[in-house]
Parts: sequence; C-alpha cells; structure tokens
Amino acid sequence: MLDIPSRRQVMEEQHQAGGRVAAVFPIHYPRALLQAHGFLPIEVWGPPGTDVGEADAHLQSYVCDIVRRGLGFVLAGGLRDCDCLLVPHGCDSLQGLGSILLDFHHPGLPVLTFYLARGEGPAALDFTVAELAGLSQALADISGRPLDEQAWNRHLEIEVAAEAALARLWRERRQLELDNAELYRLLRCRNYLAADRFRELLDKVLDRHRGAAPGQKAILLGGIVAEPVGLLEVIDRAGGLVVGDAGCNLGRRLYRAVDDEPDPARRQARRLLGGPPDATRGAAPSRIAEHLLEQAAGSGARALVVTNPKFCEPELFVLPEVTRLLEAAGLRVLVLELELSRDLPAAAANRLEAFLETL
Ligand code: SF4
Repeated sequence: MLDIPSRRQVMEEQHQAGGRVAAVFPIHYPRALLQAHGFLPIEVWGPPGTDVGEADAHLQSYVCDIVRRGLGFVLAGGLRDCDCLLVPHGCDSLQGLGSILLDFHHPGLPVLTFYLARGEGPAALDFTVAELAGLSQALADISGRPLDEQAWNRHLEIEVAAEAALARLWRERRQLELDNAELYRLLRCRNYLAADRFRELLDKVLDRHRGAAPGQKAILLGGIVAEPVGLLEVIDRAGGLVVGDAGCNLGRRLYRAVDDEPDPARRQARRLLGGPPDATRGAAPSRIAEHLLEQAAGSGARALVVTNPKFCEPELFVLPEVTRLLEAAGLRVLVLELELSRDLPAAAANRLEAFLETL
C-alpha cells in the first residue's frame, strides 16, 4: 500500500508552517496564484458520501451531486479549518452555488469567485487576466500581503513540472505495478497536495513500483471524476487497465506549459485557456472527440468509460454527439451516471463488468 498523506495531515502541516488553506470547488482555477499568495488549494469534489439533507433544502432537485454534497459539506462545517473558499464558475450549477454562499448562506469564511472565459481568443485572454487580477486582490486582502510576482512564476514552473510527471506516469502506466484502485488513490492527492510534493510522490512511485501492470483490457476513464472508489475496484476485478484519464478532475487539467510568456498573469491565463478540450469550457463535440481519439491511439485504449454525476448539464450537452463520433471511429464507449457514494451500485457494476468482458 502506498504511503500517502491524508488531507487532514496536509492541512495541519500547512497551518503549522504559517501558511493558509483555500478550499476550492471544481474545476479550473489558478493553483499557482493561490500558492503565490500563501494559500494551499484543497479541492472539494463532493466529498462522496456527504449527507445532503440540509443542502437539498436550498437546491433544485435537478442539481448534480458535486454541488449537492459540496453544499452539504459546507453547511455541516466541513470547511471550519479553511481560510477562504474559492468557487470557480465551472458551470451554471457551480455559479448558483457561489451565489448561495455569497448572498444567502454565508459559510463563515471569505467566499471568492473566479470566472474562466469560454473560448480562446484575445478577448477571452484579456477577460481572464482581469479575473485573475480581481482574485489576486481578494487573496491579498485576506492575507494582508501583496502578491509576489516572482513567487507566482516560480509556482507556475512547479505546476508545469507536476503535470509533466503526471504525463510520464500515464506514458509508463503499463510498466507500473499498481492496480487501478491504488493508482487513483495516488492520483487523488493532486486535489490537495502542493504540486512539488505531488511530483516527488509520483517520481518515487514511478521508481519503486516497476513491473507489469495488472489488467489487460486497456481503457480510458472520462467524465467528471473517477468516483465512487468502488468503480476502480470493479475495473480491477474485471481485468481492466486504466491507461489514460480524460476526466475533469485529472486529464482535462493537464494544461500547456507556455514557456514564451514572462508575465505570470498572462501565462496563467494562457495555460488555463489552452487546456485539453472540455465541455465545461464550451469545447465543441468534434474537438472533444478528436482529442479523445488521439488519447486512445497514444495509450492503446480500446474503450472509454465515462462516469458523470446525474444532471451534469455541460456533459449531457455534448455526450450524444461525442459518443457517436467515437463509436464511428471504432472506440467503444460506456456512459455511467452515478452518485458520489463509496460503492458502485450493483446495476452499474453489472453494466461495467459486461462491457469489459466484451473488450
Ligand atoms: S458535475 Fe457537471 S453540473 Fe456538476 S459541478 Fe461538475 S460540471 Fe457542473
């Protein structure tokens, strides 16, 4: 079993070292900017299994589980040890969550927002740079310290190195003696470990766990997030091998390095805007499908398993056309709509096992 620090441990260490913690909802946000201001981002994707009773009183019944459980977690006091909460505008549901927390149900810590422009042209770049400036000012107001631009550039470099290590891990996946459940236990650390520690952990695992990967049936995982944990366990039991990730939580946040930009704000913005095609950033189905086919060809994946929370609008808009294009090109696709719980429901497990059997 890999030796992985827990979220709680990482937060305590950050506070003991005199730093601050920013809770962050999905999806895209400037990690390096937060770090440059002395805030360690700790992401909140649910968490799975969180009680949603109180949250449901504030939300429409067709809101996804990421937002429902996220609000449930906030209302249950789950952020009591955090110094601020950042709610990026990943989709309309997240924007609605930001409004609830800013205007109606203040969680007792500063709530910040960040809107990443859709599109990639000059207007999108200017808009995102302005958003970064606003966020930076809000962080400086909380910390009482101005932004250190050199630190911002330094943290951008660290992020790039962490993403390069992640890309290497996927390239070498078949020589990594880790089952899928253990691999994703490692990868989930990206949501709360500082990028340099995450990279060190990956490097160590890549050096110490050489061998043949268990599982033969190569698949990509896509969708929003590879949850519940039981999903990976079913893939392990059925002989599947995850050789690439195309989900919001991991694969769609492997941004470009952008080495030709000295200004950290423009570099950060260009990185965020130039990430892999993503429905939540308004990418067209044809671009998403093209990227997935390239990823499948590069990794040898024969199928894509998509896991989405129910009612995920951005994904539902593109999935029918993306699926049609992928299947027409010979890539098998299974779409599972799931709640953020610990176990995979029996019906979904059966569908997944049957799908993997046919590969
Ligand atoms: S699961 Fe979909 S609808 Fe929910 S927060 Fe994520 S992108 Fe938005």
